[in-house]
Amino acid sequence: MKVFISADMEGIAGKVHWEFSKESDSAEWDRDRQIMSEHVKAAIEGAIEGGASEIVINDSHMSMRNLAIDRFDFEQVEVITGQPKPLCMMEGIDNTYSAAFLIGYHGMSGAHPGVLNHSFCPLSIREIKINGIPVGELGVNAGIAGYFNVPIALVAGDNVMAEEAQARMGDVEVAIIKEALNMTTAKCLPLKAANELIKQKSRSAVQRCKDMKPLVYDTPTELEVDFFMTNMADAAALIPDSQRKGGTKVSYISSDYLELFKTFQAMFMLGEHVRLDLRY
Ligand SMILES: [Zn+2]
Repeated sequence: MKVFISADMEGIAGKVHWEFSKESDSAEWDRDRQIMSEHVKAAIEGAIEGGASEIVINDSHMSMRNLAIDRFDFEQVEVITGQPKPLCMMEGIDNTYSAAFLIGYHGMSGAHPGVLNHSFCPLSIREIKINGIPVGELGVNAGIAGYFNVPIALVAGDNVMAEEAQARMGDVEVAIIKEALNMTTAKCLPLKAANELIKQKSRSAVQRCKDMKPLVYDTPTELEVDFFMTNMADAAALIPDSQRKGGTKVSYISSDYLELFKTFQAMFMLGEHVRLDLRY
């Protein structure tokens, strides 16, 4: 039985500030990546106890080179590190998996009071909608798992993200490791308690995943991005067959969710390019 783990960072224990997200030689980033790795290790231990025989972990945060690989010395485990990746935070998943876990995840952009709430690009994307419903990284990535008929069986992060997961996916296992007070403040479980909770929920997620439903969006599927500035939408609208929906919004429709996702990834990279480059 195979388990896929997508590991992000903003939802980990103790993390409440963007500065820590910028990977560099900073002590804060190093601390956060150790905690992120400890959470993933706890999820691995629980999954193995629950019966997982193969586990693939995809490093899903920023440079996607955060995880400390020396924590994962289990014969069942392999780790995907680096970028770019066609499936981004879900790279590596396919229809041979029984369950997917989203560890260290956070609420969508605008989800008050979610800790470090954002959707893929905190400085360029205001909102993403799929078939008219607002979604964040969780909803977009669950759709990739759903394309391969894999249910999201466990999410770990703050309570705002957990509510989002339950609203979208019903009976998913949730490990709430911090309570959001506002975007940059949280009441956190200490590391040992957070890891114990993740391990316990992971074990139960593996045992229960056969009864969980994958998230599959109706087709044709429309994904709309609302950017912060019109120049970001100008850039994203260069994608053939995209539709401009007013000043800051661009949408794309496809019956193939992977094509839709790859187009979305190209859109946000174009939007980010304009933001960083400031050429226009
Ligand atoms: Zn994220």
